[in-house]
This record gives sequence, C-alpha cells and structure tokens, in this order.
Amino acid sequence: MLKVLIIEDERKVARFIQKGLSAEGMETTIAETGDDGIRFAVERAFDVITVDLSLPGIDGINVIRTLRERQISSSILVLSARGALEDKLLGFGVGADDYLPKPFAFDELVVRIRALARRRANSIQNHKLSYSDLEMDLQTRRVRRGDQEIELTAREFNLLELFLRNPEQVLTRAKIGEAVWREQFERETNVIEVYMMYLRKKIEDPNAPLLLHTMRGVGYRLCELPERA
Ligand code: CA
Repeated sequence: MLKVLIIEDERKVARFIQKGLSAEGMETTIAETGDDGIRFAVERAFDVITVDLSLPGIDGINVIRTLRERQISSSILVLSARGALEDKLLGFGVGADDYLPKPFAFDELVVRIRALARRRANSIQNHKLSYSDLEMDLQTRRVRRGDQEIELTAREFNLLELFLRNPEQVLTRAKIGEAVWREQFERETNVIEVYMMYLRKKIEDPNAPLLLHTMRGVGYRLCELPERA
C-alpha cells in the first residue's frame, strides 16, 4: 500500500486530498505544520510526501530542504497555490521531485503520485545488487551479509561489485584485473589473491554457505553451493 504524507495547513484541502487518496487505496497521514511534517517523515517511511509551500512557521521550501538534509528519500511533490515559476524552481532546487499548481484536477494528483512512487521503487531496485544473503547498495555503498553490516575498502567494494554483477559465472584473473585494477593491473603479481583473501575474511561466515569459490587455475566464482567445495 502506498504511504503518502500530506503536509498542508488548510484543513479542508488536506481532508479533501486525504479522502481522495484513501479511496484510491493509499494510506495517508496529515501534518498541519512543517514541523509535524518533518517529524512524521523522520519517524516513518513514506513513499510520497506532498508539501504545500505556504505554511505557518517553517515554510514548504525549508521543510523540503530539511527533509533532504536528513537523508529522507521519499519522493516529494510540491502543491502550491502560488504557482510562480520562481517557487517551482526553488522547490526543485532544494530537492523536490515534482510540482503541481493549485487548483489541480484530482486525477492529475493521483497520476503524479503513482508515477513518483513507481520511479522511486525502480531507483531503489536499480541501485541494489544482491546474491544469496549478500546485499550491496551502490548509492550508500553499504554491504550486508544477512543482518551483518560489512565494512569494505574501495577496492574490496569494487571487487565484490564485479562478482555481484556476474553471479555464478567464472571470472578469470585477467577479467578481474581489467575490471577492478584497470591499467594498474600487473599480471605477474598476486594482488588478486591477496584481495580475494581480504574479501573472504570479511564476507564469509563459517556458519553459512561458502560464497566465493576458487576455480583452480582459472579464476573465481560467486556461487552458493549446498556444501563447501
Ligand atoms: Ca497553505
């Protein structure tokens, strides 16, 4: 169910939006001030946040700026009666994703919210790689195995990323060298072996299936086998 936060000080307008979105099967929350809006957005994950620009106290532009500063990744749709180009640009400048001038047709609002939510879901999917219980977020550069967070150096991260992009395939030393070390790669060194050892120390778990396998004389393979090879 799509979760939408409505930051709107005019109760009638807020209720109208809430009623309509609920009828579309969305879960809605109203915040009547910018401060409440920020608090709700930090406490709970919303797919989309609609922000009215003229709010008493902290105004809409500053609400959006604060949300982005606090790393809130919900999609933000500005709803403004002011409608001026300047407001629109200001909104985008502080991190809004879309803009709809008031008054608007309700269907238009629903279409925009669904599009924003879809775009957000895609981008969340696209910047994550996973295999078995290993998960890598390319945007935050976080890596986890199960619920265990793993700290990797930049080189280790790039090496693991290559395996996650090519799961279950045998990667030769030459391919790994080219992809991860590029022109700095020297064939005669054992740098890949050394880094594979570092990576294994960090990601392998003695109580879980082995993931990084050595294919003797060929290279390595990221693969989940029922027993240790
Ligand atoms: Ca207002």
